Amino acid sequence: MGKFVGAHVSASGGVQNAPLNAQKIGAKAFALFTKNQRRWDAKPLTKKNIEEFKLNLQEVQIDKDHILPHDSYLINLGHPNKLKRQKSLDAFFDEVERCEQLGLTKLNFHPGSHLKEIDEKECLDLIADSINQALQRSDNITLVIENTAGQGSNLGYKFEHLKHLISKTADKNRIGVCLDTAHLFAAGYDIRTKESYEKTMQLFDNIVGFKYLKGMHLNDSKAKFNSRVDRHHSLGKGEIGLEPFKWIMRDKRMDNIPLILETIDPSLWEEEIKLLYSFIETE
Ligand SMILES: [Zn+2]
Ligand SMILES: [Zn+2]
Repeated sequence: MGKFVGAHVSASGGVQNAPLNAQKIGAKAFALFTKNQRRWDAKPLTKKNIEEFKLNLQEVQIDKDHILPHDSYLINLGHPNKLKRQKSLDAFFDEVERCEQLGLTKLNFHPGSHLKEIDEKECLDLIADSINQALQRSDNITLVIENTAGQGSNLGYKFEHLKHLISKTADKNRIGVCLDTAHLFAAGYDIRTKESYEKTMQLFDNIVGFKYLKGMHLNDSKAKFNSRVDRHHSLGKGEIGLEPFKWIMRDKRMDNIPLILETIDPSLWEEEIKLLYSFIETE
């Protein structure tokens, strides 16, 4: 138990490099893209990629459950256009397969966008259908829905959206959520004071439930409160400030899940991880 903090590390040169990059910054958890996140096509993982990834994981002693792979930014599981949604679905199935090949247990994704062509409910139902199709294609992967800032027509900015998706998922054992602090804040869930932090977490528990929390993204926000703008910042340098990250590190509800930095300056990650761990010891 305890806290498992890391960052979204580079997998350039091959997925097998991600565990090593995590180790370099003192991480006990990490996120990665298993393919180029800005391209549709990708070469399949090679046997060498997969074997070396698993070997390197053993070497750095990071548990597979503390790895939170992130899907491509191009995928929109709620796309209003049937053909374009199918393209996203096919790419998503490939992401799921890659995670399975690597022996991973989770896949973190953004719900999707209605593009102002259909209403929110219709779009959420398409996303839920996509989730169910993807789960049918795998045995071991838990799909982890990320809350969003609600920029543009992105859904997932309300706890009710997450609840709706979970309620429509056939296999409740393989669905979860990842809370991104910058997205929470930009979507209008305040965490800046102890009172607002507790209120937001209580609301999350009431609407979604902590049993579904499978990871967190720890980011400060360049964007203002309730701005619906998605812009991350380094810890303590943005609108959220450092204090809420102390409460998270001392909050038992965030034990034993990957806590991932997606802050904007990778050269600070080692320091940020140390800082976060120091919050546990110092009362
Ligand atoms: Zn994300
Ligand atoms: Zn995030």
